[in-house]
Amino acid sequence: MSLIPQSQLFNDILPAAVIIAVDGRVEEANQAALNLLEAQDLSELTGRELSDFVHPLDQPRSQARARREGESFVNPAAKFRIRTVKGAYRMVLLSSRAFQHEGRDALMVSGLDMTDHEALDAQMRESEHNFRRLFTNMQDVYYRTDVGGMLVQVSPSVEAMLGYSAEELKGEDVRRFYTEDTDSEAYVQRILQHGRVTDFPARMRSKFGRIVDISLNSQAILDDEGKFAGIEGIFRDVSQRLEMEQELKRLATTDALTNIENRRAFLEHADHVFRSAQRYGTVVSMLMLDLDLFKTVNDEHGHIVGDQVLVRFAEQVKRELREIDLFGRLGGEEFCVLLQHTSAEHAGIVAERIRHRISQLRFFDDEGANFSVTVSIGISANQPEDRQLERLMERADRALYLAKHDGRDQTRCI
Ligand code: GH3
Ligand code: MG
Ligand code: MG
Repeated sequence: MSLIPQSQLFNDILPAAVIIAVDGRVEEANQAALNLLEAQDLSELTGRELSDFVHPLDQPRSQARARREGESFVNPAAKFRIRTVKGAYRMVLLSSRAFQHEGRDALMVSGLDMTDHEALDAQMRESEHNFRRLFTNMQDVYYRTDVGGMLVQVSPSVEAMLGYSAEELKGEDVRRFYTEDTDSEAYVQRILQHGRVTDFPARMRSKFGRIVDISLNSQAILDDEGKFAGIEGIFRDVSQRLEMEQELKRLATTDALTNIENRRAFLEHADHVFRSAQRYGTVVSMLMLDLDLFKTVNDEHGHIVGDQVLVRFAEQVKRELREIDLFGRLGGEEFCVLLQHTSAEHAGIVAERIRHRISQLRFFDDEGANFSVTVSIGISANQPEDRQLERLMERADRALYLAKHDGRDQTRCI
């Protein structure tokens, strides 16, 4: 049974192009439609997807309309750019409605050619060309989803980033690729609320299991009635940038020789812990450590051996500390420890253990001479009246001075 009444009037005289598609593919077209699409006869059109004839930039709108067809909704006339079988572009006023044909989804589309400037064709050709070039060559990934979050279009660059080809991804739920620590709900909410998001941080898992840190810039696609019809956006691999930022941060906070916190990072960290202890009335203790007669070590064994002693010293001290304790190099051969939730008495035991451990170490220089080093340690716990970390440091420093004064290789507490 033919879907279009075969009257000559309908076929030859009706100025509007009429196409009937079943399951998205062209089945019937009148003469005006053949003219509009520059087809010789119906066989050039039948079986082809309707979307083949829509300009890429108009596809989001066109697909948003197509989704409403199921509700036998009449899509009001709207302008679309269409592409003929010869590759020319036309501006067409389209309206459509859905109906059922032998239990399948059918769609009747009617169009009026609005192209009145030849220049428009060239312009559109160029805009599509630019879009294609951008789409194919960009390093970032362009993507578009439908209202349900299914991927409708993805640029080929996705393959280098995630290992999946663009074809593989079409029809997939975009959420499948986010890791658990990505707040994809917040992402969608923000787009729904503000229409767009910029620089949204997320993580995706590649085909091969690699975690890729990305930054998303996206916006909502709205249909003709202003209703949400999907998301289109661009995401960028920022893994390298984040790694570099982390490395820069590490370098800025770490002592290059001993790999423990440097002075600035330690003091900042210690200040934070100290303030919290003062506020909540908990006890923290500070150890001020200074290697004894270290100048002699350098003088007798050389600066390089002196450096090795400092590295080993830091490693050994760390072994007496817990995860929550802070340890930093204040400068030269001076180190500082902040023990959380530790009284002066208990800090004394820790300090003694450190002192003993260091005194037991054996070092060798290039000439095979072996030697040992000792450390003096000043100890002090926070007092309720301490307004600043400096008060605690001053006491620990004075205690260190006493330890030095009393012959070194000692621990003293104030
Ligand atoms: P004291 O027991 O009184 O602390 O004696 P000391 O010799 O350790 O004290 P002083 O502060 O006079 O000298 C510290 C020396 O530590 C001076 C310097 O040669 C050495 N030193 C400081 N920083 C470094 C470093 O990064 N590497 C090496 N190898 N030596 C360092
Ligand atoms: Mg010293
Ligand atoms: Mg010193």
